This record gives sequence, C-alpha cells and structure tokens, in this order.
Amino acid sequence: MALTVSASSFSPFLRSIPNSRPSTFALIRSSYSPAASPSLMEMETRKVVVCGGGVIGVCTAYFLAKKGAAVTLVEKSAIACAASGKAGGFLALDWCDGGPLSTLARASFNLHRSLSQELDGPKSYGYRALTTLSLTISESQNPSTPSTSTSKSTGDSAVPPWVDGPARNTRTIGNTETTAQVHPQLFTRTLISNAIENYGVEVVTGKLQRITSEGGKVESAVLEDGRVIYADAVVLALGPWSGKFEAVSSLFRVYGLKAHSIILEPKDPEAITPHALFLGYYPAQGGKPLDPEVYPRPTGEVYVCGMSAVEEVPEDPEEIAANPESISVLKRVAKTVSSRLGEGEADLKAEQACFLPCTDDDLPVIGELPGTKGCYVATGHSCWGILNGPATGAAMAELVLDGESAIVDLSRFSPARFVGQRRKH
Ligand SMILES: Cc1cc2nc3c(=O)[nH]c(=O)nc-3n(C[C@H](O)[C@H](O)[C@H](O)COP(=O)(O)OP(=O)(O)OC[C@H]3O[C@@H](n4cnc5c(N)ncnc54)[C@H](O)[C@@H]3O)c2cc1C
Repeated sequence: MALTVSASSFSPFLRSIPNSRPSTFALIRSSYSPAASPSLMEMETRKVVVCGGGVIGVCTAYFLAKKGAAVTLVEKSAIACAASGKAGGFLALDWCDGGPLSTLARASFNLHRSLSQELDGPKSYGYRALTTLSLTISESQNPSTPSTSTSKSTGDSAVPPWVDGPARNTRTIGNTETTAQVHPQLFTRTLISNAIENYGVEVVTGKLQRITSEGGKVESAVLEDGRVIYADAVVLALGPWSGKFEAVSSLFRVYGLKAHSIILEPKDPEAITPHALFLGYYPAQGGKPLDPEVYPRPTGEVYVCGMSAVEEVPEDPEEIAANPESISVLKRVAKTVSSRLGEGEADLKAEQACFLPCTDDDLPVIGELPGTKGCYVATGHSCWGILNGPATGAAMAELVLDGESAIVDLSRFSPARFVGQRRKH
C-alpha cells in the first residue's frame, strides 16, 4: 500500500523554496577542472567499477576517468533510464544555504556551469539560466481557499503572459544568476558519451549481483550472468536500488519516494518563456494544496511534476508504472496554469513515474563503506541529484584516487555516520 509522505518531511513537493531573494555571497568556486595529478600519472592506473548508470554513477565515472582511472560502468538497463532521465533538471545555487548541503550544492551549480561550457551544454542538453517564480493557483474559484491577495501579480514579479490561469501571490525566488536547468536525460547521456570517447570509460550492460572482497579489501564486482570484473575500487551508485545490497542495507536505509511527471509539447513553444514555476495549487475538490513544479525546456517541451508517495521500488526500472490518478491531476495542473498546455493546445509526449533515492536523515551518503576497503557508495540525493551529481562525482573521484576530497568536505555525508545505528532487520 502506498503511504503518503507527511507534509512536514516533503513540503513543498520536492524542494524548499527560499523565503527571500537569493543571497549574493561569493561563489565558493567559479570552476573546477580536475587534472590528473603528476604523482598519480606515475602510479599504476587504478581500476574502478562504478555500478549504476544514473546521474550519480555517470558523473562519478566521468570524473574518475578524467583523473586517470580505468573505469568500467555497470548499468542493468540503460543510461539514465530511471530518475536521472525523468527528473525536472532544475538547478539552484543557494537554495540549500544554511544547511549541510550548501557547499555541495554551490560547488555543483558552478560545475554545471563549467561543464556546460566544456560540453556545449545549451546545444547538447538544454542547459540554460532561468527565472524562477513561486505562485498560488486555484483550480476553480474555491471559497475555502486561503488567500492574502486576489490580484493577478503581486510583489516585483510579473507573471509571464503564457501563465494565463488565476495566478496569485507571485514571487521571484530565483534569477538567471542563481537558477538554471538541464534536460537531465540528455545531460547524463552527453556526459557518458564524452567519458567513453575522451577518457576510455567502458559501459557494461548487466546487473550487479554482489561485490567480493579479500582480506577486508574489495576484489571484484560479480554480475548476475556470472561475469566478474576485478577492481581496485567499486562505487555503488544505484539510486533507490542501493538498499538491495547487504553492504548498504546493513548500515543504513535507502528508500524510494515515487513521483510523477508529464511532458507536454505546446503548439507554440516560442510563446513559453524560460520561467520555472513552483506552485501552491488548490484543487477544485478542496483539501491540502499540492506543490507541483512546471519547467519549460528549450527543447520546446514543458515538464510538469508532483504527486509523490513512498512505495516499494520494483526490481526492474522498466517496470515502474505511473499512477493514472496522479497523471490526471498533473494534466489538470497544466491546463489550469496555462491554456497553452491544455488538451488540443499541447500534445502529451510522456506520462511517467520514477523514484527519488531517500535516506532517513535526508542527506546523501557519499564515502567509503566502513569494513570493506575500496567499496564506496554515492546515493540518497533525494530531490537534488541532478544538481548535486557533478560535485558528487568530482568529490568521489578525489576520494577514491587521492584518499580525500578537496572540492567538497565529505565528512558530513560519510556512511560512517550510521555505524551502530541500524538494528537487525
Ligand atoms: C519527478 C522528479 C523530479 C526531479 N527533479 C529534480 C530536479 O529538478 N533537480 C534535481 O537536482 N533533482 C531532481 N530530482 C532528483 C533526481 O532525479 C535524483 O536525485 C537522481 O536522478 C538520482 O540519481 P541516481 O544516479 O542516484 O539514481 P537513478 O537515476 O535511479 O539511477 C540508478 C541506476 O542504477 C541502475 N541499477 C539499479 N540496480 C542495478 C544493478 N543491480 N546493477 C546495475 N545497475 C543497477 C538503475 O537501472 C539506474 O539506472 C527529481 C526526481 C524526480 C523523481
């Protein structure tokens, strides 16, 4: 049975919206280019197996290989077949400020910017800066809807013309310096293609079955079909599937939060400006407001997501099916926001669902697993995996090859924080 997640743990739907205009304090890094260190070049090439072809595994493989490792990436289905291909792709510089994710998020936002210059992001995967608004929309005039204002636009932010639904309480919560987007599937696939072509990453299609170790040190990754890949280090980046492995589940819980999305193709995409929308949405039948998000993309699509609940993660990513009621709510959201997104005005290109990888303390887990030298994990990125993928990958590459990460202090994310906490289950 699906459990609805409490509003306190996931409200708004995916991300918390900053209360004030983004702060202007200095960027911690304007760019990051991990060059192979001379000492490493003199050393024997390290062989690393990265398991999982989502954004976290692909970013890790990319930065490891760029730093000189011989990398094999194991993916059981297809690159970016799960959340990393179905996410919104929204990026924010400072929305995690004041919390433990701040340094990771800031470093990663800046890495996205430099990667986009390196890989022609605007053309290859729809990287662009955005203006981001929060606004309230009611599906129909509902007398029970709480309202502080009934004007169409308040504060300093004009509602873009294509948002012709009953928008209220509009606020600008991100500008083109602080918010941006990528098409997450194109981003992940561009990065792996580049890693294959320029840094020799090998991609193996197969299902990781177990990790073997010898004398407390990792030795190989064994696939379901019996193939054995020997390695000096193994990185588990299996998203919500990470918890299927004893090495992980004996230490901490990784669970899946299922979320839905639709992709629309409006007839006149030129009319849709680069404004990301974070909604407080009041359904006609009453009840609590929903928190859907709307992202126009430079590819001419408009992506709408929301409707989340904790559910069991199916074994195979291809088996994840969208709940029809959730999809129909998202369609209603789209047409209430803009007549250009209603039936007849926009084609429905996709209706889909996928799982956010979540942990009990709402923080990602990035580091070496205590007890098995050379076995690393990078998961639990929840609603910020696309944003935090590059800095996670770069930091993991440094940790594996240099023994510590310089780009981000990973101590807060270490799996060691769970030692002694997990009861037998
Ligand atoms: C609706 C929605 C919207 C989102 N929007 C945003 C956003 O706007 N911005 C943002 O920053 N984040 C967003 N996120 C979050 C982001 O998508 C995730 O945090 C991120 O994709 C997680 O990446 P991952 O690589 O850890 O996992 P996944 O993408 O789930 O990848 C895991 C991979 O491991 C593979 N795998 C599993 N088991 C095995 C095995 N045994 N052997 C081999 N391979 C295996 C799977 O096939 C899969 O490809 C959103 C998520 C959702 C659901």
